[in-house]
Amino acid sequence: MSGESCGLLHAARDDDRVFDRVDYEGPVARWCSGCGDHSVLSAAQRLLAEKQLAPENTVFVSGIGCSSRFPHYMKTYGFHGIHGRALTIATGVKLTRPELDVFVVMGDGDCISIGAGHWVHAVRYNVDMVALLLDNEIYGLTKKQTSPTTPQGYKSNTQPRGSYLPAMNPLEATLGITNASFVAQTAEWIPAHLFATLKAAYEHSGFAFVRILQRCPHFTADIFGEAAKQPDRVEILEGPGGIRVEALDAIYKNKVEHDSSDLAHARALAQDMTAIRLGIFFEDESRPRYEETRSIPQHSAHEKMELLEKEFERYAV
Ligand code: SF4
Repeated sequence: MSGESCGLLHAARDDDRVFDRVDYEGPVARWCSGCGDHSVLSAAQRLLAEKQLAPENTVFVSGIGCSSRFPHYMKTYGFHGIHGRALTIATGVKLTRPELDVFVVMGDGDCISIGAGHWVHAVRYNVDMVALLLDNEIYGLTKKQTSPTTPQGYKSNTQPRGSYLPAMNPLEATLGITNASFVAQTAEWIPAHLFATLKAAYEHSGFAFVRILQRCPHFTADIFGEAAKQPDRVEILEGPGGIRVEALDAIYKNKVEHDSSDLAHARALAQDMTAIRLGIFFEDESRPRYEETRSIPQHSAHEKMELLEKEFERYAV
């Protein structure tokens, strides 16, 4: 999303301000103690500081859910939207103000369920932004309801005998969408990998989709809470175009060789949900971005009114 790589006009900094992480910190987050959302918030603030993004030119957009409180805790612009519509709002923001850095934060219900149509087309439109799916595999805000990514058989308040259907696979689905340009997965309990992934997503020119496996100690402690204690269950993707975090080598020893330009291999890796695979599955910056395929004419308010009147006249009877 950097101005240099995408060729878009980003807001120029005409001052010598230097931002620290604290400059992006809003009020104390009200998520449960131990919630993985805290970790993602911290990584996002670190990223903004590293990239020295001006808070007034940065926007966090969210929908509804626990993670969607995210914009409240960032000292940037933010839009806490409505359920499933974060991507539509973010697309409007980016198309209208291409110089802004736009981040979208969604939960699994928000993105994969009610927002599924928007998710599919946002991937295809490939508008330059970072989309974060904080996936705790449950509806937390509404007190443990089955979400599309809840594992089959997992008991919830809406399906007390266990989730009826096999869980949706967000990576496999995203990799199947025409014009997908960046698909990655990370885990919030591995902060170094999380940060490296967010950084790669930000530096990607186009729509960067990142699924973040997220612990919910309140309702699904046994899902990722257990996985976080078992490094052997994790496989790190490494290879051309991938992320390399040497500091993790001593703990995360399982590696999978993968070239991030190989879509067929990315799909094969994503299909197998028995291992927790983390890294960049696919990246292709040559894919067309919607904002490049159209030019928005610039008109004064007076010209807009004239054009509008002319359009109305076409339908006069
Ligand atoms: Fe986090 Fe779960 Fe608490 Fe929601 S219910 S704030 S996802 S721990």
